[in-house]
Amino acid sequence: MGPRGRPLPWLLLPLLPPLVAAAAAARPNFVLVLADDLGYGDLGCYGHPSSATPHLDRLAARGLRFTDFYSSAAVCSPSRAALLTGRLPVRSGIYPGVFDPGSRGGLPLAEVTVAELLKARGYATAMVGKWHLGLGHNGSFLPLRQGFDHFLGVPYSHDQGPCQNLTCFPPATKCFGTCDQGVVPLPLLWNQSIVQQPVSFPELVPLYNKFSRDFIADCARRGTPFLLYYASHHTHYPQFASREFAGRTRRGPFGDALAELDGSVGTLLQALRDNGLENSTLVFFTSDNGPSTLRMARGGSAGHLKCGKGTTYEGGMREPAVAYWPGRIVPGVTHELASTLDILPTLSALAGAALPKVTLDGFDLSPLLFGSGKSPRQAVFFFPPSPDPLHGPFAVRLGKYKAHFYTQGSFHSGTTPDQACHGLTPLTPHLPPLLFDLESDPAENYDLLQGRAGPEALRALRDITLHKALLEQRLEFGESQMGKGRDASLQPCCAPECSPKPSCCRCSPR
Ligand code: MG
Repeated sequence: MGPRGRPLPWLLLPLLPPLVAAAAAARPNFVLVLADDLGYGDLGCYGHPSSATPHLDRLAARGLRFTDFYSSAAVCSPSRAALLTGRLPVRSGIYPGVFDPGSRGGLPLAEVTVAELLKARGYATAMVGKWHLGLGHNGSFLPLRQGFDHFLGVPYSHDQGPCQNLTCFPPATKCFGTCDQGVVPLPLLWNQSIVQQPVSFPELVPLYNKFSRDFIADCARRGTPFLLYYASHHTHYPQFASREFAGRTRRGPFGDALAELDGSVGTLLQALRDNGLENSTLVFFTSDNGPSTLRMARGGSAGHLKCGKGTTYEGGMREPAVAYWPGRIVPGVTHELASTLDILPTLSALAGAALPKVTLDGFDLSPLLFGSGKSPRQAVFFFPPSPDPLHGPFAVRLGKYKAHFYTQGSFHSGTTPDQACHGLTPLTPHLPPLLFDLESDPAENYDLLQGRAGPEALRALRDITLHKALLEQRLEFGESQMGKGRDASLQPCCAPECSPKPSCCRCSPR
């Protein structure tokens, strides 16, 4: 008996129905780390010669590293919508492009996020970092309205506010370039409130890491399973880092920012170990879209893949990805197809959560992670940043074959030697499509239909065309959230009555 004659809680355990106790024990924790504009070739474990990513490399060595993992869009907002909902972003209306500080739209509240599913299963949920799924009136589209109990972060990209006078690398290196002008200084939000404006870049990641450590420790103390969605700003432009990482790598500003992201992964893993949770937590790492080669050495690298951010070539959407769960996931490398769309169904299955009664585009990856090693996913659809029902997906991958029905360059992918990537390269239809074998030609250099396509390739093209038609048949475009336009008064301002706007919106941390 405990104090005052009450039975100690653990003595009650045998009284619980065995199934309930088993289910409670079986609910794993989830740490979902999303990098920003990190390319396929940027990590040491993906072959970059001068990146310093020891924690991610160790995660990959001790976990399952994917060679054929895809994000679901080539730019930020739609990619994040797909990750959280398990649905193609055209369904939720997250197009064209990305949200602005004054966007009227946001991820519709009717969409069911993975945080909402897990919360309904008794999970504690927290998000740190970049949201980029809308703000709305009075924060009506912020993470707290989408299933997260806690939020510490920036509501959009950190170049969507003036940065020319801000310090990006201590002690005093200013941010490179100008970022967006004529909008409010970049805000840091805690839940629904602005706690700093503009954000202090050198202090940001240490704050995020402390928040994450505290959240993990608190969940461990309470014995509550949790979802931590850690959406890093790294390695989106402009690059920045705290004192610990500034000037510390061979790869310059990009390398320092990437090293800080890598350090955060180390911090999260240490927090799991410190709280005895490493063996009951699935850690998943990936990136939202390919590298912004427009930034040259200050942008990322798609490695040997073609083009980068904003395009439906491999460099725009094939991402580094690692699944890590000691004792449950056998370390290795998988060439199976998988996508950020698969995160929601996979986490739901592991948590025993019911799937939402809507059309999902993802699959439960449990067989790939814990069983046969085979992915239930056969196809990947590549939509451009400005999709429409007339053109549908620009490209489709089925097995090892990928067909491009349309291609278009993107200004995000400028500066590469390949003209096809550049922003001035217009929308080009391909009839017959361009067809590539991504196993023998991952760089999409050699169109099989230009050479002597064998019967297998022709069969693949027929199957791809069929898959595309089937998708288009059941694909409904949700009302465009970006189409709702902007309202400058929606821009977050810590001093709402100040003047002149937007530059007067400045507040130091409380
Ligand atoms: Mg991005």
